[in-house]
Amino acid sequence: MIYLDYQATTPLAPEARDAMLRWLDGPDGTGFGNPHSPHRMGRQAAAAIELARDQVAALLPPGGKVHFTGNACEAINLAMRGSGGEGGTVALSAIEHAAVYETARLIGPWHELTVDDAGLCDPAQDFPPDTRMVCMMQVNNEIGAIQPTIEWHRRAKAAGALFLTDAVQSAGKMAVTGADFIAISAHKLHGPKGIGALWIRDGLTLDPQVTGGMQEGVRSGTLSPALCAGFGAAAKLAKERQPQDKAHIEQLWNRARELFSGWTINGGADARWHGNLNIRREGLDVNRLMSECRNVMFSAGSACASGSGKTSHVLKAIGLTDQQAKNSIRVGFGRYTTMEELEQGANAINAAAEAQGL
Ligand code: PLP
Repeated sequence: MIYLDYQATTPLAPEARDAMLRWLDGPDGTGFGNPHSPHRMGRQAAAAIELARDQVAALLPPGGKVHFTGNACEAINLAMRGSGGEGGTVALSAIEHAAVYETARLIGPWHELTVDDAGLCDPAQDFPPDTRMVCMMQVNNEIGAIQPTIEWHRRAKAAGALFLTDAVQSAGKMAVTGADFIAISAHKLHGPKGIGALWIRDGLTLDPQVTGGMQEGVRSGTLSPALCAGFGAAAKLAKERQPQDKAHIEQLWNRARELFSGWTINGGADARWHGNLNIRREGLDVNRLMSECRNVMFSAGSACASGSGKTSHVLKAIGLTDQQAKNSIRVGFGRYTTMEELEQGANAINAAAEAQGL
């Protein structure tokens, strides 16, 4: 099988797996302790969590603290809901992940910030004067657009609003820019599934959304030392390998553009994470393409939207018609993708598209 769906999730790094094993049982069977217990086993597990916290924090700006959560959706919900005490509007880009836009719609009122055909959200545009929070993802999961988050953070600050950035697709790949709240997820950076984090700027507080033992200060629940250790090891590796990973991805991108030269790219090519190629071909039957390329893992739109039958809100926001959006696929590659895999995958996709008479 050829895996070309790096925005949906990424392969677990062997280093992250190794770091986790110790805390599942450990060589002497003492790795399972509750990290919130004061005895020796508990303290050992707690120390592993604090090491992981520092490793994850090293991917993020100074001046805040990492709070582990179950995933990025939970982190985003905590930031958006937990800061809503005084009321006010939430302004969000038109291409945010469902974790942000569904939450904004539920908690209301909300205001959508428009994007151009590259998916970029112009920081000169207005938002309502009662805006309490601006949400702007750093890298979009469907088209890879890299937003001007530094300028948006400035705008939010000048307007007295909080700034949340969803850095799920950027953390570990590039410097995460400043914010009041930053949401990230381990499984997008070669860590395990089932753990994320919310970085909270020092001095800010949130109303907890999950109450109980308050182990993470703003969030309750016993932490998993294994998941934390895997997240930490993955973060450390991502930081160390960042230049190397980026260079590898640029090579794959250049080759992918050649291999898919018969397709139209969705979104821009420049302010874009180059591990993401979202492309379309007029008349393409994506379901048929996927069933004919069973050995190639790629996506129709975002992993969350694909299979739902709904047209991607991201592709619509950048100006595609419903039909063009339905003719689109997303090919994602990264650290462990080899050139041969990319070529074989692209050849299979092209052959199946040509068999449709395209
Ligand atoms: N934000 C973005 C941009 C994503 O790509 C995803 C996952 O698809 C999420 C948030 C949610 O992450 P998690 O799976 O950790 O809840």
